Amino acid sequence: MAVFKPENVEDFYEIGEVLGSGHFGQVRKVKERTSGSLWAGKFLKIRRSACSRLGLDRSSVEHEVEILQAIQHPNIVALKDVFESRAEVVLILELVSGGELFDFIAEKENLLESEAIEFMKQILEGLKFMHSKNIAHFDLKPENIMLSDKVSHPNIKLIDFGLAHLFNQGEEYRSTSGTPQYIAPEVISCQPLSTAADMCVLSFLRLSGLSPFQGDTDEETLKNIIAMKYEFDAHYFNLTSSMAKDFIQKLLVKNPEMTAEECLLHPWIKPITSKQVARRNRSSINMRNFKRFNARRKWKVSMQSFFFLRHFKARPVRQCESDVEDTESKPASLLRRRLSSS
Ligand code: ATP
Repeated sequence: MAVFKPENVEDFYEIGEVLGSGHFGQVRKVKERTSGSLWAGKFLKIRRSACSRLGLDRSSVEHEVEILQAIQHPNIVALKDVFESRAEVVLILELVSGGELFDFIAEKENLLESEAIEFMKQILEGLKFMHSKNIAHFDLKPENIMLSDKVSHPNIKLIDFGLAHLFNQGEEYRSTSGTPQYIAPEVISCQPLSTAADMCVLSFLRLSGLSPFQGDTDEETLKNIIAMKYEFDAHYFNLTSSMAKDFIQKLLVKNPEMTAEECLLHPWIKPITSKQVARRNRSSINMRNFKRFNARRKWKVSMQSFFFLRHFKARPVRQCESDVEDTESKPASLLRRRLSSS
């Protein structure tokens, strides 16, 4: 059981600039007073009473902390400490200062598939480790794939384990949370989930710069995902190697059988013959598409177009007249994210 320190976080850390924000609070740069070292403080608002709509259940934060403690790996953000006050919990995390992977790539003029694969490998290493511990991320999306530092060859750091789940032996688990472009078909159709859902979503994140299921509306996108309807449009994929297509196709299925461990052995990731190496080196990412895709994605994120499958909401939201904060709260659809697991 994780220890939540009851002390005031500000006695130990100087609170600095905002690094990012989520639906339940902010992430700020913090400086340890004794050592001067820099960290990221994730400030999460906790629900003050059972009937409050604002903030997270403490148990949900405990869950995130337990998962982070179980998965210490170079490609996964590390947790250092946890502080708790009446209204919030603060997670002291490793500072990840290289920004989002997709922004780093979008700044490039050219990107060879072999360069993109170096990043993919690290994502897979992180997933392989998590999955070996029976933990699924369930919220893989570009915003949660960050880079360690602002250097020319940074390391991948997977962040945000708020929706992650630790599977117990024989457990049947369903969840209804996600973001349309990066949601597994079994989530939409409310089927039991496994770590395979991460693998399917991983294929959506492929670095071609085009979401395979992107429809004109979120509804259309979801329909395409459920039907697994996609095509490799020659116009967009003329630079993509056949090995890359094979890799994607093996993951673009419901409950993909290829595990993270097996992905790391696929010839696109680990070519064996010199012909495969040459083929991979000749292929590149369509940067025009990628930049367009990334700009559209950033716009969507900034519009906070967070998606929630309302009709699958697991818990009814109770009204509570005494809860003053409720009158100012954002729509429940934006706040129920972690409560939506069943
Ligand atoms: P969401 O509501 O999307 O689940 P959240 O409340 O769980 O968000 P995170 O996604 O963990 O919060 O963090 C929000 C943002 O803060 C991230 O997108 C990222 O920009 C920034 N961030 C998170 N963790 C770190 C970190 N360790 N170092 C630097 N920045 C971070």
